[in-house]
Amino acid sequence: MDADVFISLSHFKGHEMTGFGGAIKNIGMGCGSRAGKTEQHSNGQPSVDESLCRGCMRCQKECANNGLVFDKETKKMHVDLEHCVGCGRCLGACNFDAIAFNNNNAIEVLNRRMAEYTKAVIDGRPNFHISLIVDVSPNCDCHGENDAPILPNIGMFASFDPLALDQACADACLAATPLPNSQLSDNMAHEGFVDHHDHFKNSTPESEWKTCLEHAEKIGIGSREYEIIVVK
Ligand code: SF4
Ligand code: SF4
Repeated sequence: MDADVFISLSHFKGHEMTGFGGAIKNIGMGCGSRAGKTEQHSNGQPSVDESLCRGCMRCQKECANNGLVFDKETKKMHVDLEHCVGCGRCLGACNFDAIAFNNNNAIEVLNRRMAEYTKAVIDGRPNFHISLIVDVSPNCDCHGENDAPILPNIGMFASFDPLALDQACADACLAATPLPNSQLSDNMAHEGFVDHHDHFKNSTPESEWKTCLEHAEKIGIGSREYEIIVVK
């Protein structure tokens, strides 16, 4: 990358795969080339559980890669593995939990690759990062069908360390009270709800975010320790 200094500005929100999208996700995925984005996602391709699929075709509208094919006879959706790039957008689009990744490690590998791409972007150049915890949607901003915020607006966080920033933002979100009429509060009200004591996981149980921060620390992006300095 041809830049003397790197400054990131991220919308901190939930994410259907990585739990949340903050600085590391925005930098690693956002600065990745098209091939790089595909490579980060490439460890997982989903499949459709036909017994759960209701043929609503909502997932197909979210796929930009012609990765989903609808069988008009059976009225069930199928994944076309030739075209699917494993981006995971269809998982968040299905309201019936009919789509899941075949590879259980897919999200962990994605998390680690995001951290590595971030390291490649910021390594060796001064960098500074800002995250806005506002309108914390349950899914990534790339989802056209995104839902109401799951958490209240918390504010703007900034740091020279993107890892400390993500950790501080995540902790602030975990300490917040879920908003009513959101995916998170609706999930928590379901009969048989399993409490993960983690708003991101309670919002999207199949998501996972800790492996990203653990790996980011291991490869030297920064520290998960932080001190909050409040500016008014
Ligand atoms: S969104 Fe879910 S239920 Fe609807 S067609 Fe896709 S897999 Fe089936
Ligand atoms: S994972 Fe992405 S590319 Fe694959 S079918 Fe789902 S939306 Fe399409």
